[in-house]
Amino acid sequence: MNDFKQFALSTELIDTLTKLGYTEPTEVQRLVIPIALQRQDLVVKSQTGSGKTAAFAIPLCTLAVWEENLPQALVLEPTRELAVQVREEIFNIGRQKRLKVPVLFGGLPIDKQILTLKQKTHIVVGTPGRIMDHVRRDSLMLSSVQYLVIDEADLMLDMGFLEEVEQIIQALPQNRTIMLLSATLREDTQMLISRYMQAPVSVMLESDTQTLDTTLQIAYWIEKEDKYAGLLQILEQENPQDCMIFCATREMVNVLCQKMKRDHIRCGMIHGELEQRDRLDTIAAFRAGRFHYLIATDVAARGIDFDHITHVINYDFPTGKETYVHRIGRTGRNGKTGIAISFVAQSERHMLETVESYIGTSIQVVTLNTVTQHMEEHAVQAKAFWNRQRERIITKETKGAILNRDIMRLSIGGGRKSKMRTVDIVGAICGIEGIEAADIGIIDIRDSLTYVEILHGKGKIALTALQDKTIKGKVRKVRETGGKRR
Ligand code: AMP
Repeated sequence: MNDFKQFALSTELIDTLTKLGYTEPTEVQRLVIPIALQRQDLVVKSQTGSGKTAAFAIPLCTLAVWEENLPQALVLEPTRELAVQVREEIFNIGRQKRLKVPVLFGGLPIDKQILTLKQKTHIVVGTPGRIMDHVRRDSLMLSSVQYLVIDEADLMLDMGFLEEVEQIIQALPQNRTIMLLSATLREDTQMLISRYMQAPVSVMLESDTQTLDTTLQIAYWIEKEDKYAGLLQILEQENPQDCMIFCATREMVNVLCQKMKRDHIRCGMIHGELEQRDRLDTIAAFRAGRFHYLIATDVAARGIDFDHITHVINYDFPTGKETYVHRIGRTGRNGKTGIAISFVAQSERHMLETVESYIGTSIQVVTLNTVTQHMEEHAVQAKAFWNRQRERIITKETKGAILNRDIMRLSIGGGRKSKMRTVDIVGAICGIEGIEAADIGIIDIRDSLTYVEILHGKGKIALTALQDKTIKGKVRKVRETGGKRR
């Protein structure tokens, strides 16, 4: 039984959601999906972790018409990491409908993105700067866009994207629907709403307190010079399953990561100065369970969803009260409990009090016991922690992997340069006995190679048959391939 059935979604989509483990809509989904499906403008006050991505991804995937070639929906994200994460969620949800969901952001070559956009595209996800870049180059056509999602609007404006967001809205057709999602609704966000949205329906959710309720908050008095030793002691005591460690600056993130690596603790780091590829690879590796301690600055980590964080450590105490809530909101999500540990120096006492009055509860601060007091107990805990650092890494499957099980991706020799077209591929594959058009998934034509997905477990049949079948007048090299799916 899947409770998403209440929204009258297609059986295919219900099946996809079940495979993703979504059987009961979250609150934001329950409220947003029916309104979004009716194409009404919507303002949603909600935070990451509430399931808000699926709340717009489900309607977008339902409303998308597969046969249409030009993009029908545009999703704006403030950061590249968020763009990648949200694209993945939409792609998974639209997987069985074979929706093409390219992601566009700076820091990667634009030429490849231009080639991708020349093919059929249903939903585009991207950062405002790069999206505008494509609009100016005429590589992204907005004439068929009916739906615009402005996600994390407050962060988007914090990052100075107001001008681009306005330019994008102005470039859209008149009859578009807009959904704006934001953790807070400040004056500048209100301005966007009143200027561009028509009688929007409001859905307001307060989720901060929920996170606070399910998270145990602990704090230790600790001075700067003792922090690293203190961290080791905490890690040995807690042996966290998956932990985010926040530092105040990029420099501190670098230093801490080096120290931990020197001590053979498997960890990774993200901050704004790292190369885009490295940041994305780090996030993917953390999600896959290749390491368990992610050291981060606030900005780099904002909005990114890791659903398995058991501990958050404030190595440097936050300098803003909202930041405290943001950080500890990484744990204690989806009904699970979490632990938030903060290091507080005497000089940070005032900030601690500010945080306490903001969250409306006091945080008990204690002195970190010296190890000598609980020597034996600590030795056992420490052993478990250090053993874990040497364990063989068992990587976790990504959430979408289950959807890929019945799908085989083939590479076919020949692409744009040899004038390969979608019809050539579809024609050849449909000529194989036992395979019909509905078994063909996403087709991606590159310069001299074409990728095609064969669905419903029929990959082997297609692979064998294509070995000696002609495609566009020639027998082509056809292989099974892994690689990045777009
Ligand atoms: P978001 O707030 O969109 O970042 O989502 C937070 C997390 O909840 C993500 O890992 C989603 O995959 C997951 N999620 C979203 N909707 C559901 C649902 N209905 N049931 C279970 N997990 C969900």
